Amino acid sequence: MKYNEQLLKDSLIKILNIPSPTGYTEKIIQYIKDDLSSENILFNETNKGALIVTINGKNDSYQRTFSAHVDTLGAMVKAIKGTGALALVPLGGYMMNAVDGENCTITTLSGDNYSGTVQSTKPSVHISGIDARELKRIPENMEIIIDEKVFSKQDVEKLGINVGDIISFDTRTRITENGFVKSRYLDDKASVAILLFVIKHLIKEKIQLPFTTNFFISNYEEVGHGAKAALPENTKEFIAVDMGAPGLDQNSSEYVTCICAKDTSGPYDYNLRKKLINVCKVNAIPYKVDVYPFYSSDASAALGAGYDIKTALIGPGVFASHAYERTHMDSILATVDLVLKYCQEA
Ligand SMILES: [Zn+2]
Repeated sequence: MKYNEQLLKDSLIKILNIPSPTGYTEKIIQYIKDDLSSENILFNETNKGALIVTINGKNDSYQRTFSAHVDTLGAMVKAIKGTGALALVPLGGYMMNAVDGENCTITTLSGDNYSGTVQSTKPSVHISGIDARELKRIPENMEIIIDEKVFSKQDVEKLGINVGDIISFDTRTRITENGFVKSRYLDDKASVAILLFVIKHLIKEKIQLPFTTNFFISNYEEVGHGAKAALPENTKEFIAVDMGAPGLDQNSSEYVTCICAKDTSGPYDYNLRKKLINVCKVNAIPYKVDVYPFYSSDASAALGAGYDIKTALIGPGVFASHAYERTHMDSILATVDLVLKYCQEA
């Protein structure tokens, strides 16, 4: 085995297990800070709470920055209903079908956690018949049933639950013997695990880099402004490490690293893409180039903010993205390989 796969898996599971809906990322960021500190790796924290690890290279005026985002989808309490159920509003963009029946945790402002389930407002076929089946899964028709004996709005308020509280969905993380990784939020926690692995590898192996290279752990990607600010000043190349999109009519795959040529925000830098593909070819890293029809990344966010940078988007192929996602270790390892090899490319 080329890399310590178990280390990567353990780190990924830990990251997946810490809830971090966009706008509620303090805990996951703290975990990453502790993880880095335990290996004496220095970092900077931005005002918005993102982390930046910088590894110095020969050339400091031309810098590369890789990003991955720790924020995920989730929901927020929108109202407490008279029945004692909670109305919710989604954080980030997803189909409500994807969370129908899912277990969740409600976290109050004072830090108390309550268990619950996402249900439609007509969850039983024995009561609502065809209506239960046909009810459109939209936020207005979904609610959280709290696992407490609550029968009124007052009962819920007594628990300390309020509008604005955070709802985290269970990730149902499972890694099979043959390398499939199934979980919510592989977008983009798989890439966060990849970057942490790369950082530790570069430092441990004392690999000399041609360019100073930054690793930006962003925390507001799902709402579009993760990398809109605070990129290291000399960043000339910005490579977002985020999921590829395999599936219907797509060229991406769960078994290779995916390189995006274009997404909704437009084409990525042509020459940077060419360089990344070349690194794959020279190092026999399995890859696929693809175009994503409904997608934008932290690289798009940085461009939109006005940064004068070359951008690229690479990452593991994540099937059923923003739902119950799946990838394979092959895809994660190929992406580790591409990031590591590209870092060393003069
Ligand atoms: Zn993402």
